[in-house]
Amino acid sequence: MEARRYGPNIIVTGTPGCGKSSTCEFLKNKLKDYKYYNISDFAKDNDCFEGYDEGRKSHIVDEDKLLDMLEPLLRQGNSIVDWHVNDVFPERLIDLVVVLRCDNSNLYSRLHARGYHDSKIEENLDAEIMGVVKQDAVESYEPHIVVELQSDTKEDMVSNVSRIVAWEKMWLEQHPD
Ligand code: ADP
Ligand code: MN
Repeated sequence: MEARRYGPNIIVTGTPGCGKSSTCEFLKNKLKDYKYYNISDFAKDNDCFEGYDEGRKSHIVDEDKLLDMLEPLLRQGNSIVDWHVNDVFPERLIDLVVVLRCDNSNLYSRLHARGYHDSKIEENLDAEIMGVVKQDAVESYEPHIVVELQSDTKEDMVSNVSRIVAWEKMWLEQHPD
């Protein structure tokens, strides 16, 4: 039997540029006993790449290897997972999926400032308009654990973090030792 976890696992997902990492950096200061996994960094640190996509100018993550490394860590609970891909994690290990959303003009500015080339910006803007990340989330997890939050302004981010912190408190109350 699987050991129970004493704190939830929270995915923060969204199209690149929506504010996942900024939100998570802020969130982890509020949830002190949580481990924060920025999956792009985690994959790099653990050598979970299986190639390079020249068109997209990005590494291709070996998802099997990634999950082999990450699953034992997720089983311990108290995790914040930051990735634009959300549909690869085992459903039984995920308690909340926060999908950050962003207005397209803001997203354009953020990705442009990041130095993305035009086709990569366009691909991400299209994905955001189509709600691709949200769609992946609702197809992969129970709809009631998927929460969509707008992330256009600093105020949005502060309120989003407060909501996640309140949700975490509620989860703990609903899952007493
Ligand atoms: P992601 O991790 O989803 O790719 P980041 O957190 O790196 O996104 O944010 C991309 C850029 O947008 C950063 O420059 C960040 O400061 C800015 N940003 C993120 N969220 C917000 C927000 N809610 N309001 C204003 N700027 C934001
Ligand atoms: Mn990021």
